[in-house]
Amino acid sequence: DAIVMEEEEVEQKINIEDYKGVWVFAEQRGGEVLNVSIELLGEGRKIADIRNVELTAVLLGENLDENAEMLVKYGADNVIAVDNEKLAVYTTDAYTKVIADLINEKKPEIMLIGATTIGRDLGPRVSARVKTGLTADCTRLEIDEEDGKLLQTRPAFGGNLMATIVCPNHRPQMSTVRPGVMEKAKFNENNVGNIEKKEVSFADGELKTEVVEIVKSEKAAVALDEAPIIVSGGRGLTDGKGFELLEKLADKLGGVVGASRAAVDEGWIEHSHQVGQTGTTVRPKLYIAAGISGAIQHLAGMQSSDCIVAINKNADAPIFKVADYGIVGDLYEVIPQLLEALDNV
Ligand code: FAD
Repeated sequence: DAIVMEEEEVEQKINIEDYKGVWVFAEQRGGEVLNVSIELLGEGRKIADIRNVELTAVLLGENLDENAEMLVKYGADNVIAVDNEKLAVYTTDAYTKVIADLINEKKPEIMLIGATTIGRDLGPRVSARVKTGLTADCTRLEIDEEDGKLLQTRPAFGGNLMATIVCPNHRPQMSTVRPGVMEKAKFNENNVGNIEKKEVSFADGELKTEVVEIVKSEKAAVALDEAPIIVSGGRGLTDGKGFELLEKLADKLGGVVGASRAAVDEGWIEHSHQVGQTGTTVRPKLYIAAGISGAIQHLAGMQSSDCIVAINKNADAPIFKVADYGIVGDLYEVIPQLLEALDNV
């Protein structure tokens, strides 16, 4: 995501004081706003309150009324809704143009985008177009008490250290933020806000890409960051077959299967299932860790879960320090018992 700018562009001075407000890109898939966007509204609200500015959600697509109202109830002071058939499905060029034009017109101080596949494509394009920087894949955002700048923290050097990055001379300060790390905004039926409907048009030939058809991969990547329940397995499974047992438990609970890096490195399960610093950060309602010791890099990806249940045969395993419920025992005895008990519910 590194952006290389021409020297003269870097030199070009902007008046930072002209830029006000916090913006969140409200990403939709099939008409549904993603959880990460609601998380960013939660974080954006905090930042906007500290900076004493307004929080704006930017929503692009078709038939946006319902979602625009929902975003207000999640705490957006303003929603900019850009309704156009060419925005119904994400394309890099259409979305980049619309958002860059909006930024140039309204000058937000901060722009937050979820670090999803789409966000990771869109963020750098927009930042280059409006000639600012972007910190990709942030896991923490804070406001510097002294100068009000956004402190953007992200893992660096393969997750071995955390780097805090500031954007001193350009605006907006842009970040993509990992799903699952921020707390979701609270829904409040009584929230009021302003919904601004924007018209856009595209000149003939302006858009170079068109989505003809969306073909879902047969083996869809697991949506760990959206799952309310995750059953994760680690090296303690001792064998890839152990995941079949975890899958049964996940199916019964309506959840998905996650894994530690050790299990992924063993080749027992694909990397898309990995939870942790170099995997996905998750914040489900229920996280069950079976045969996972609780290394710091694993905890970094799951310790904000609402309820953590650990199953481990070593009573001293560090996972028990973050667990709400701990079961000391052999997972191959405990999980079949859990399954049986669930059958009788
Ligand atoms: P182990 O630490 O070997 O633990 C296995 C556990 O299973 C033990 O506690 C044992 O008591 C228990 N056990 C064994 N048999 C049974 C049984 N029958 N029933 C119940 N319990 C049993 N790790 C991640 O998970 N995610 C990451 O994103 C990640 N990123 C990393 C990034 C870097 C830069 C580095 C250096 C490391 C990273 N790691 C990551 C690796 C991490 O340090 C640990 O090595 C890893 O999490 C250990 O996985 P584990 O808990 O499955 O295995």
